Amino acid sequence: MTGAVVTVGDELVQGLILDTNSPYLEEKLLELGFQPRLSASVMDRVEEICQILGLATMKARVTLVSGGLGPTEDDVTREAISRFCHAPLELHEGAWQWIQERLAIKGLTPTPQHQRQAYFPQGATLFPNRMGSAWGFAVNHQERWILALPGVPRELRAMMEGEVIPFLRERFPGITPMTLRVLKSFGLKESQVNALLKDLLQEHPGMGLMVRDYGEVHLRLCGPPGEVEPLAGEVRKRLGHHFFGEREDSLEGLVGSLLKDRDLTLATAESCTGGMLAHTITNVPGSSDYFLGGFVTYTDQMKHRLLGVPMETLERHTAVSRETAQAMVEGLVKRTGAGVGISVTGIAGPTGGSPETPVGLVYLGYRFPWGTEVLEHRFQASRIGVKTLAVKTALDHVRRRLSRGE
Ligand code: ATP
Ligand code: MG
Repeated sequence: MTGAVVTVGDELVQGLILDTNSPYLEEKLLELGFQPRLSASVMDRVEEICQILGLATMKARVTLVSGGLGPTEDDVTREAISRFCHAPLELHEGAWQWIQERLAIKGLTPTPQHQRQAYFPQGATLFPNRMGSAWGFAVNHQERWILALPGVPRELRAMMEGEVIPFLRERFPGITPMTLRVLKSFGLKESQVNALLKDLLQEHPGMGLMVRDYGEVHLRLCGPPGEVEPLAGEVRKRLGHHFFGEREDSLEGLVGSLLKDRDLTLATAESCTGGMLAHTITNVPGSSDYFLGGFVTYTDQMKHRLLGVPMETLERHTAVSRETAQAMVEGLVKRTGAGVGISVTGIAGPTGGSPETPVGLVYLGYRFPWGTEVLEHRFQASRIGVKTLAVKTALDHVRRRLSRGE
């Protein structure tokens, strides 16, 4: 069974607002058992909406349309669907009554403008809107369903959960729901993940790679549960320790859970990341259970005064060195009593590099209850990229060390 998603709005096509409805609707279609075959954004124009509906209904049994159901002249989705299906718009007394009551509560007088929202294509099934004024509707046109939903994400989601999903389940009782899983990896390039999973990617059209943020590659597996579950197992096995989690998992969240499980506390000493590591760690609700705090020591003086890094170390080896990273993390743990310490020192660039300490050179120091480690990294990225990669690499390393001692 196939599905399509069409979002309507000039602002979507012009890139003024980010289309968050499409990914949501595509996921819901998949879960219901409809393979999305088309996803498109079009302008608020009857002609263009009709054109895309032509294509969508050629490809899909069910087309979900979002947006353009409002009361204003530029909201033309209802007119477009009416024209496309040759189903004239008719006033629905129940909906009109409801709109007038809603306006009365707000102390507003109904106008012909408002009445537009009570018109629906002949024969449509209506979906009341519990969150706003625009009702949705479904029409059947030549064995194809076209469903119109509001553009406001909150209203769209409520209508989808409350009305549309039960409606589609009832109309398509025999359909097998699909499972959608997202497996996240860190530390491998897209080409490396591709090479590891090449045969699986070729065999399974429901499988795809998504490059996310810095250093993360996500795998999307979609299909019947009986196919997806064993496939997910194989993907995890091949990714090895690079696999870190699924949908809602983040490196910082996983590190937090591991620290809590082991009754360990954490502290940070940062130079080139300027507090980004502490910021990321504290994005996790409840991080105060394990995160003691952090130092941002940008100058040599601060590294010496706050962390006790010997001036001699800084002078002899410079701030961006294995020795400084080690002295930072050891000083940090001594001063805070944390169970786990992380230090970061490096050159974020784009200026300030030299042949000995090139841009992107970062030392990450770790202090675990069983010992100290310092690792050297050479990141190739923008300034923010180097900072982000340093933060994620540090979190990923702690995750690996605490989970299975990898
Ligand atoms: P309204 O009664 O609010 O006019 P509507 O069904 O006509 O409802 P739109 O006018 O298309 O919806 O969109 C209303 C607002 O919802 C937009 O300004 C935008 O902020 C948001 N919105 C619309 N479509 C999307 C989308 N695809 N993704 C994210 N936000 C959206
Ligand atoms: Mg509108």
